[in-house]
Amino acid sequence: MSMLKNFKNLTSLVTLKLTDFEARACANMAGVPLVLVTGATGFIASHIIAALLADGKYRVRGTVRALAKQDDDDRVQKVLKQTFPELELVEANLTKDEGWKEAVAGCTYIHHVASPFPAASPPNADDIIRPAVDGTRRVLSACANAGTVKRVVLTSSVSSISNGMSGNRGVGTDHVYTSDDWTDVDGPCAPYEQSKTIAEKAAWKFVQNLEADKAFELVAINPSAVFGPLILPRTSTSHGMVFVLLTRMLSAVPDVAVPFVDVRDVARAHLVTMTSATAPGNRYILWNNTVWLKEIAEVLGKEFISQGYDVPQERMTKIQLWISKFVNPIAKFFYSVVGIRIVFDNEKLKEELGIEPIPLQKTAIDTAYSLIESGIIEKKDDYKGPENEKN
Ligand code: NDP
Repeated sequence: MSMLKNFKNLTSLVTLKLTDFEARACANMAGVPLVLVTGATGFIASHIIAALLADGKYRVRGTVRALAKQDDDDRVQKVLKQTFPELELVEANLTKDEGWKEAVAGCTYIHHVASPFPAASPPNADDIIRPAVDGTRRVLSACANAGTVKRVVLTSSVSSISNGMSGNRGVGTDHVYTSDDWTDVDGPCAPYEQSKTIAEKAAWKFVQNLEADKAFELVAINPSAVFGPLILPRTSTSHGMVFVLLTRMLSAVPDVAVPFVDVRDVARAHLVTMTSATAPGNRYILWNNTVWLKEIAEVLGKEFISQGYDVPQERMTKIQLWISKFVNPIAKFFYSVVGIRIVFDNEKLKEELGIEPIPLQKTAIDTAYSLIESGIIEKKDDYKGPENEKN
């Protein structure tokens, strides 16, 4: 498969340089759709790449902000290459025009996943909003000009539906959010929620205004908080909730309700909507359930307290959380959503995409073991490892 990378250059030399077997393999590759995944180093993107390659029907290209010159310069890229030797990597930054034309060249499908997802809001909201919005336009423009792109699957978020975990202004707590809902960016709305909403709206507008000869289809995937095991040795902001509990960064558990979904379901949804006849033009909410953080703490406590992890089980009052927010960034975030429980309609996920979400128990435990096994959380003396789960 390493020949894939240089396939274009090789075609003119095939008869001279390749054996019959290699030439046939190259010819076969030519009929295999090429799929681009933007932000290949990301948590969700790495699962999409894994799902695409496991499917066996696609060649996969991924973008990174900057290609590492030496493997040792960048541990994440090194593991990415080791894990997926057949993945082609190209350089493209959301903040620059360069690289996107080459990145989409020859691609049939695009998963546009890359977007800034920082743990804390930067002082300047545009540091998140501009890369998300301008980057999406850059990717879509390149797709329109490429002439080969059939469909783009955009990783949006429930941040563009329900203002994330905060809920939309003036909407009652009994409201069930559907794909018809949009976050009101003119109301109280954090930079990340603004970035996802404005970027997704820009994407829909972009495809609506395309001339027929440049047209392609668009699907939006709107996940709630994504948990699940890591493929690469880096966490996403969403792992913070499990990290906080397992490392006892908070001594008790605040009344925070977490709408969640497993990353493996997110990857599957990306794959199904990439080719499904009914997906174009749709937004798909990826949501399993909204659970109280206390429920996650209980699942983790049952599995990990006996292995030396002092997972908090007590309830934290709102006043205690208010005090914690001055020293702990995640407590600051929790305080902004304390007591709010947002729920979604996931009928389209189940009925149309045929995905029955992975249950909380598996998602939470697999996430925690993955954080420990990848060295992000230390192994305690009593740690027995994932096998303990099966015994
Ligand atoms: P990660 O932080 O793991 O991945 C983000 C990716 O975006 C990284 O590959 C990062 O590259 C890339 N990126 C960020 N800024 C730029 C830039 N300027 N140019 C090029 N690439 C850039 O996050 P997730 O995997 O969790 O999130 C992926 C997508 O899913 C995002 O769009 C996010 O908004 C969305 N999402 C995530 C949810 C979650 O709970 N995790 C929930 C709902 C939506 P680099 O490695 O160089 O930093």
